[in-house]
Amino acid sequence: MYKLDPATLLCPACQTPSLVRHGAYRRSLTWGCETFVITVYRVKCCHCGRTHAILPDFIAPYRHYALPDIEEAVSRVLDRTIPVEKASKYCDVSTVKRWVYAFKVKVNTVIGLLNSMAIRLYDRAARLIATGSSLNHWQQFLAALSLLGSSAASSEMGLANIYVTSDQTIVFL
Ligand SMILES: [Zn+2]
Repeated sequence: MYKLDPATLLCPACQTPSLVRHGAYRRSLTWGCETFVITVYRVKCCHCGRTHAILPDFIAPYRHYALPDIEEAVSRVLDRTIPVEKASKYCDVSTVKRWVYAFKVKVNTVIGLLNSMAIRLYDRAARLIATGSSLNHWQQFLAALSLLGSSAASSEMGLANIYVTSDQTIVFL
């Protein structure tokens, strides 16, 4: 089992390696047709005083459903133009509509953050700008994410959250 050492992490707020364990809480998570109770650990920054939850990449803050389920429904609606009524096997239509709306509200900011990171790290912005205009929201998101390369994650949205929350703590999918 992988053991996470808070001392090896940077505080997302002030970027200092000053995190210490700060308790835990239990929360439920629905993934597919099953609901689990998981433990989420918290850390506190000794430098700025902020606290942070250490979420696995398959959980988005304040979401009851696992991110791979959300991603499947959102991508089916936005990329494959499947009606919201048929986008998810597990959730009702109003929940899927909320997911799609939330993605549309946040995606341009997330694309901007991913693009900014790609410019700073790899000078890769030109590729996104050249191809972005003819793509739908989902394809633009994937194009921006691809600028930073691939990595092991539970979903594309989970990977994006890893990238953007390593840079700031305000936006996530
Ligand atoms: Zn801090």
